[in-house]
Amino acid sequence: MAKRIAEDSGSSLSPAPEDLLAPVETGVTATATTNGKKRKAETTVKTTVKTTVKTTKRTKQASADEAQGEEEAIEAAETPRKKRATAEKVKHEEDEDDKDGGANGQTATIVEKTVKKKVTRAKKSKEPVPALEERTADTKLRIGAHVSVAGGVHNAIPNLLHIGANAFAMFMKNQRKWDNPDMDPEHATLFINGCKDHKIEVGDCCLPHGSYLVNLAHPDAERKKQAYDCFQNDLVRCNKLGIRLYNFHPGNANATTREEGITLIAENLNRAHADPETGSVITVLETMASLGNTIGGTFEDIAAIISHVEKKDRVGVCLDTCHVFAAGYDLRTPETYAEVMEEFDKVIGLKYLMALHVNDSKAPLASYRDLHARIGTGYLGLRAFHNLVNDERLHGLPMVLETPIDSINASGKKFEDKSIWAREIKMLERLVGMDVESEAFKELERTLYEQGEGERERIGGQVERKKVKDAKPKAVRKKKGKDDEDVDGEKDAKPRKAAPKRKAVAKKVESEEEDDDDDDDDDDEE
Ligand SMILES: [Zn+2]
Ligand SMILES: [Zn+2]
Repeated sequence: MAKRIAEDSGSSLSPAPEDLLAPVETGVTATATTNGKKRKAETTVKTTVKTTVKTTKRTKQASADEAQGEEEAIEAAETPRKKRATAEKVKHEEDEDDKDGGANGQTATIVEKTVKKKVTRAKKSKEPVPALEERTADTKLRIGAHVSVAGGVHNAIPNLLHIGANAFAMFMKNQRKWDNPDMDPEHATLFINGCKDHKIEVGDCCLPHGSYLVNLAHPDAERKKQAYDCFQNDLVRCNKLGIRLYNFHPGNANATTREEGITLIAENLNRAHADPETGSVITVLETMASLGNTIGGTFEDIAAIISHVEKKDRVGVCLDTCHVFAAGYDLRTPETYAEVMEEFDKVIGLKYLMALHVNDSKAPLASYRDLHARIGTGYLGLRAFHNLVNDERLHGLPMVLETPIDSINASGKKFEDKSIWAREIKMLERLVGMDVESEAFKELERTLYEQGEGERERIGGQVERKKVKDAKPKAVRKKKGKDDEDVDGEKDAKPRKAAPKRKAVAKKVESEEEDDDDDDDDDDEE
């Protein structure tokens, strides 16, 4: 298994140093109350006048290079993604930056932000200020969330400090574009220095998420190259930033057979591992929710990929709790949890488990639907997460929340309530060693369960209705399908298992980039 937190080094788990809240010198004076709950940024006019024009350009540049994509999917998921106008996107980024500006201890980024602050100050004051939490110093866990890097990779740092995270995920570049621009060296330096300043052991607690476009199982030469280049570029970026782990979706066999797809993924990994530019970054395969043509929905798929990887020390696995549950692995009781982990060990090997995506599921067990829910509100329930965080084998592995945080404020406006993540982090930390028979646990479990009732019923109903619907034409389909199903190596690979049929493979291809965990609350897509 991956490196644990050494007893004597809790450094990445130490609380944010005091300078996080200290006034920043350039351009902006950030002030905050001692509990960190109220923040206010004041612009020092004289220092910004000269830089306004230049920094506006820089901001635009940053958006083009990195920020757009790094405006994370979690953010993008809440609106019809593709339909969003660029203008709206820019506005969103500005808001994002503005929210985090006050917590930012990075001087060099401040100049850029002053420009945006001027623009968005008025807007911001209307929005609720998320409750902030300090990083927990003495926790056995490394828990965080997928944070935004809008404006540059360095912005991950204030964003993770903002929610009290001891681990984090981010995109390395625009996750919905094929461009592979060079990383801004200035941003890279700020990121590296920021990690040092805040004692963030980036090698152990950072788990970037790969692009949604990349399918390393694509057999077509051109598509293969495009996917590989994007993937390799991400790894090079990780290497430059001292990031050790890189999480990605294995791919899908929409254009090939499962067996060939698995071979292709491994080939791509072997090639990337042989490239000195990727350093020793570990490529971490994410467990997926859906079967069908998706590769990675079973432990066997993951094991098959690993079996073809030459450098075994360059490959790992990230277990996504929502995905495995939707794929049929039950984590809810201590017994079933133990069984799943035993199976993981038997099929894949626990030494490959390097990270976790910690999400509840809006859809029931073996529903093959990838719909993330807030912790304790879904079909997994709080007990599953108690099992998880009390498994000492997982202590020290990065655990990343990808739970939906979209909320609506008093005036009916959508916003991202980062305080949800801040609270979930603290709650999961508290679950370590908590007695499940205690009133405190039962109360918490009950409250969260009730919160999720509406969504569970809604999605559960959909799943049930679909089952009924799918059951009817099945007999007809079976007959029809026999002819082209028997050859396992057929071009249009059939689902290996009897997963509930997706609407159509074509639709799946279309929405492949959207069919991600981070987008999952958008269930009408499916
Ligand atoms: Zn995930
Ligand atoms: Zn994912």
